[in-house]
Amino acid sequence: MPAETRLFKCLSDNYGVLLHDPSTGATAAIDAPEAGPIEAALKETGWKLTDILVTHHHHDHTGGIEALKAKHKCRVVAPAKEASKIPAVDETVSQGDSVSVGKLPGTVLDTPGHTLGHITYWFPQDNLAFVGDTLFSIGCGRVIEGTPEMMWKSLLKLRELPNETLVYCGHEYTAANVRFALSIDKENPVLDARAVQVERLVEGGNPTIPVTIGDEKLANPFLRADVPDLAVDVGMAGKPASAVFTEIRSRKDKF
Ligand SMILES: [Zn+2]
Repeated sequence: MPAETRLFKCLSDNYGVLLHDPSTGATAAIDAPEAGPIEAALKETGWKLTDILVTHHHHDHTGGIEALKAKHKCRVVAPAKEASKIPAVDETVSQGDSVSVGKLPGTVLDTPGHTLGHITYWFPQDNLAFVGDTLFSIGCGRVIEGTPEMMWKSLLKLRELPNETLVYCGHEYTAANVRFALSIDKENPVLDARAVQVERLVEGGNPTIPVTIGDEKLANPFLRADVPDLAVDVGMAGKPASAVFTEIRSRKDKF
């Protein structure tokens, strides 16, 4: 049976997501920004929390773990390289490890850059990727612990996922990301169309995620650092893609 998901807001601009396997009843929270909204989503759906899958150690992704685990006795899965910074971890994982939620088979991808041990949970059978703060809709995470080159490689890894993959990210940053993207990628009709779509969603009070890898490839400037036209737009014609990415990321930091 196909996976079901439930998306909801947490804290000021974080997203919580539940991933549910209808065949076994298993339910995972992807990250745990805070317990309250996760409990509310569990109540609304009637699902029982069995797992928490943590993408990285930042407090706005882990603050709810202890309360949820105390109540639900759920399994906590976390990136091996950051387990010492995350509470109540039961299992550590890294690149290539399998993580199942009930009978939903998932795979771990190392996606460092935002933090050094950041991971993505990919459920290929259901075309779902939970990318934390690595890739955002029309944006990417800040490079806090790693290097821009490292982040670019992580984004390339996500870009290789099938086009139909639905991407769930950790924050609602899309409107601001679109404003920045339009400032550097001025002749991209796909981005222009996304800008209109995002404006409508935000005006209606709706989430702008999930997004697909296929759509992001065409509109997200951080996935397009190796497109010659974009390199020209930022004054870096002929430069290596990782250098173009570094320039775009640094402009966004100051935007
Ligand atoms: Zn973070």
